Amino acid sequence: MPLQKKQYRVHGLTGQFCDASRELMYRRSVQDSVKEEFSIAVSVAASVYGMFAIADYYLLGLTNAFYLLLTMRVVVVSLCLLVAYLVRRGGVSDDRPWLQAVPLWLFATGIILIVPLRPESLSTQITAVVVATMAFYLLIPNRLTVVAAASLYLNIGFLVAAVLFANLAPVPTLLLSLLLIMGMVVGFCALLRLETLQRRQYALLHEERDRNHQLHQEIAHRQSLEEQLRVLAERDALTNLNNRGHFMSMAKKLLHRSQADQAPFSLFMIDVDHFKYINDTWGHSHGDWVLIRIAEVCAEALRPSDVIGRFGGEEFVVALPNTHSADAQRVAERLKQRVAMLSFTDELSELTPSVTIGVATTGNEDVDLDALIKRADEMLYAGKRAGRDRVVVCSDGIHNRE
Ligand code: GH3
Ligand code: MG
Ligand code: MG
Repeated sequence: MPLQKKQYRVHGLTGQFCDASRELMYRRSVQDSVKEEFSIAVSVAASVYGMFAIADYYLLGLTNAFYLLLTMRVVVVSLCLLVAYLVRRGGVSDDRPWLQAVPLWLFATGIILIVPLRPESLSTQITAVVVATMAFYLLIPNRLTVVAAASLYLNIGFLVAAVLFANLAPVPTLLLSLLLIMGMVVGFCALLRLETLQRRQYALLHEERDRNHQLHQEIAHRQSLEEQLRVLAERDALTNLNNRGHFMSMAKKLLHRSQADQAPFSLFMIDVDHFKYINDTWGHSHGDWVLIRIAEVCAEALRPSDVIGRFGGEEFVVALPNTHSADAQRVAERLKQRVAMLSFTDELSELTPSVTIGVATTGNEDVDLDALIKRADEMLYAGKRAGRDRVVVCSDGIHNRE
């Protein structure tokens, strides 16, 4: 899959992300494993380099050249082990890339210095240089530029030392140069490929994560939109009570359950008294405010199992499952009192609102919601006719009246 985003583009020569901050993030993500691999590679290489002292002894015996070589090897090995220890303890911080370069340059110097001390074993040293170059490229993780510089120093330094101290003739010099160049090119290309592939893998992983994150955000946004739509579809915008349609569907379910359980079910129709007068006296917006407050106290006066809705205008409707007529009457009286106790400030301070409530109850008769509403409505209008501000309860069952 091609990488689309600019920040994930990898440089063709360094194998690093072109975007510096992305490169830094990548380095931080691999920091721990790089630290581990680097210190192991350097420790192993230092040990191998130190062991070549045995070869020096067989070639040189206990001569001055041997002691010089031994001293040099001890210095190189000790310094490399020290750097490996420091890296392992402190991590390969990006502020200290030189810490990774130090052992490479030490090894390179150590290998180059063998030439003047053991010029007769040049062919063995050529192999050592090629192997060391490969080891630089393949064992030192995540730092192509540092490795390339160190390997260039090793190869050029070795070539110069070979010409100066091993008296290399022009043609063998040319052949040696070609061999060293080949080693460097192969090593460079191998590490470049590895670095590029690792970063591509990292980029793909992150693109995937970014996409997942976006997807989650989109899902959350959609869920909140759905929730808003649901609220819009179910709630009355002014009072925040259930709107008529939603009330009807909830009340129908409650009524069916009550009928299935053979439990009583009551219904209120509530109408604000003389609401037109309120509107006409204090204005429509004050009327709205009164409606909101009445809706609030009605909802608060009910039990959690009851469901209230705005039926339309200044009328509210309440479904009370598992409620006998007498209990329904008590709840309605409480509700009426709470509305009467409502107090307003400023221009509305004189207002004492009241409601008339019609109550209808069904026992275990097979009656539908519309019939129950109609009955409660009749009670409501009986209450209006009787002078308002009262609760009127249907005294007999619906079937008896119809
Ligand atoms: P009654 O005691 O007989 O119920 O008298 P009423 O004045 O309350 O009844 P009427 O049906 O004459 O008037 C109801 C008024 O409620 C008329 C209408 O403009 C008003 N109304 C309906 N919906 C709203 C609303 O959302 N906000 C406001 N402010 N007024 C509303
Ligand atoms: Mg009305
Ligand atoms: Mg009214």
